[in-house]
Amino acid sequence: MVQLNDLPVAVLGAGPVGLAAASHLFQCGLRPIIFERGLEAGANLNTYRHVRLFSPWQYNIDKAARQLLERHGWRAPAEDGLPTAGELLDSYLAPLSKVPELAGVLKLGHKVIQVTRQGFDKVKSRGRELAPFVIRVAGPDGEADYLARAVIDATGTWSNPNPLGANGIPALGEKELHDRIAYGMPDVAGGQRSDYAGKRTLVVGAGHSAAGTLLALAELAESVPGTSIVWATRGDQLARVFGGGEADGLPARGQLGLRLKALRDSGKLELHTNFRMVALQEGAGAITVVGDKPDGQQQVINEVDRIVAATGARPNLDLTREMRVRHDPWLESTDALAPLIDPNEHSCGTVRPHGHRELAHPEAGYYAVGAKSYGRAPNFLMATGYEQVRSVVASLAGDMAAADDVQLDLPETGVCNTRLAYEGEAEPGDGCCGGPAIDASTACCALDEAEKAKGQAGCSTSAACSPRPKASACCASVAEVP
Ligand SMILES: Cc1cc2nc3c(=O)[nH]c(=O)nc-3n(C[C@H](O)[C@H](O)[C@H](O)COP(=O)(O)OP(=O)(O)OC[C@H]3O[C@@H](n4cnc5c(N)ncnc54)[C@H](O)[C@@H]3O)c2cc1C
Repeated sequence: MVQLNDLPVAVLGAGPVGLAAASHLFQCGLRPIIFERGLEAGANLNTYRHVRLFSPWQYNIDKAARQLLERHGWRAPAEDGLPTAGELLDSYLAPLSKVPELAGVLKLGHKVIQVTRQGFDKVKSRGRELAPFVIRVAGPDGEADYLARAVIDATGTWSNPNPLGANGIPALGEKELHDRIAYGMPDVAGGQRSDYAGKRTLVVGAGHSAAGTLLALAELAESVPGTSIVWATRGDQLARVFGGGEADGLPARGQLGLRLKALRDSGKLELHTNFRMVALQEGAGAITVVGDKPDGQQQVINEVDRIVAATGARPNLDLTREMRVRHDPWLESTDALAPLIDPNEHSCGTVRPHGHRELAHPEAGYYAVGAKSYGRAPNFLMATGYEQVRSVVASLAGDMAAADDVQLDLPETGVCNTRLAYEGEAEPGDGCCGGPAIDASTACCALDEAEKAKGQAGCSTSAACSPRPKASACCASVAEVP
């Protein structure tokens, strides 16, 4: 019979967090096997390689990965440089995927379909934790099963975009018009320019992806007459996407919001707030977009040529259909993480340190990490994932002191209760601490401190901030960050 400890640890996904996990496994003397559905590592980042990230290199490189790379003569880029997603791939992830220690165990073009346990369906219990995991993988030679002693699921969410429909399911007609809809961040001013030049494009969403695409379209409109931009958001609290401004711990992220606000103020785009998309209809070569207002009245956006859905992403939960997993009912994050990351409360880009204990599931030996661990919550940063996998791997290696010594030092957005959102939208009425905050004077922690100085509760204890019983509000969590 196969001994569990003789088997490798399966890492699902070779994005930044999956490769970091593999590096930590290697460093701890555990054998990884990595499955990546793309033909190169970092396939999700590759879809937005033109986008400049807002976290500088100092936050983007995992420590174990750096050591592995440096062993092979790699030199890290300057800490304060801001790479594009493509530069992150070319200067860090691609070299990392090619170090002999990882290249030998990395299976590119291998898509994981399901994970289960050998000889056990979901219902059967006795002896379950001693059974190897079975990873069903579709590779170049067809489907095959691989055995593993533990599973680190770092498949992200980006390959599973949310639909345009405001109800969480596709708008009527959305599937039929898929050839005119791009999900995510197409390179509208670069490689895919010809699809958008001289066209009327609707961008849907109110996160950083929407912001980036709107600004790129504005750049295109400057040089190509006839290019016009429509922006639709489900809510009307745009202060959230306008962001932390100069108070943002990541200046590039603050700038993005400020530039978007300036674009909105310039009147160079047609804005529809409170637009809840329900249907897309085609006629005379153009798309008519139908939405509901919160009061039930219908509203229509006419003559749209193309649509960019910047509506966020959700985890693929089919992968673990046969596993005993516990997710938060609405975020679809690992359950214990939800109160730490709920975008309804977490605003300052701060998340309490968390590690293997919060990431564990009832299925012993299975961990979802990285962007997937956050489910539909958009406020994930690579640095968080690196600390997650350090803790998870230490626990798999039996070093519980290291596994429990979780530390996380993240930059703030500087906005109280504003989503650190690549996607998604504000919901009316879920603001706290007095609404819009786009400069340092109205930033969360400044405001919180000011409230406390006056003997008031401050934002961290405001009822509006704490719909969840286990809430840890923004500024409270800042204080806890070492
Ligand atoms: C536009 C944009 C800008 C961002 N900017 C920043 C930033 O500046 N700083 C920051 O820290 N974070 C940023 N993020 C967040 C970013 O998503 C994460 O930090 C990071 O990419 C998450 O890494 P990950 O490894 O968890 O997931 P991903 O990068 O999504 O990697 C998942 C990997 O799993 C693979 N995969 C998926 N399904 C399967 C399967 N079934 N089988 C096998 N392989 C599979 C994918 O191909 C992919 O390679 C940004 C995100 C977006 C969308």
